[in-house]
Amino acid sequence: MHALRVGGLTPLTTIDFPGRLAAVVFCQGCPWRCGYCHNPQLIAAGAAPERPWQAVLDFLARRRGLLDGVVFSGGEPTLQAALPEALREVRAMGFETALHTAGMYPERLAAVLPLLDWVGLDIKAPAQHYDAITATPGSADAVQRSLDLLLASGVEHECRTTWHAGLFSREELDRLGDGLKARGVRRWQVQECRQGQRQ
Ligand code: SF4
Repeated sequence: MHALRVGGLTPLTTIDFPGRLAAVVFCQGCPWRCGYCHNPQLIAAGAAPERPWQAVLDFLARRRGLLDGVVFSGGEPTLQAALPEALREVRAMGFETALHTAGMYPERLAAVLPLLDWVGLDIKAPAQHYDAITATPGSADAVQRSLDLLLASGVEHECRTTWHAGLFSREELDRLGDGLKARGVRRWQVQECRQGQRQ
């Protein structure tokens, strides 16, 4: 099997894995094309890795005792078949693991949930606005299944929504939050798009 394709590494974060000091591994590739994507250089799945996966493992070996965990972000980490093995390797080194995902692959998410201590799941919009944001037909349904799986797993999590009035209305945002709360989501974070990120 191919090793995880890495698009970048942040050596230390205090905000991407709540309550933990962590490194962030940015995974290369994403099937969606959100106009406000904050990491567009990570979208192309076939781009040359920024560094080998083994170099990440070597870095983590030097950080044992200094970091609590490792965040897999992107791009979309669940795009890569190598993600489960990468999670197992990192956990075997004694680190906790977190995943940032847009939830477009529910079966792959289900497969890695037992290997995760925390998940940040993007809930981009009410269902009727999803395809316009992701530029991908039928993108909302998979995310709803991913949310169901995440809630049923009991894994610590947060839902995150990137919002600007040009994407959908403030009233729709409020209803989205109410709906998530009714489904059992306990943490929901709204991040406003900066002007330059608008669609
Ligand atoms: S799902 Fe995330 S990584 Fe993929 S295009 Fe959208 S914002 Fe970018």
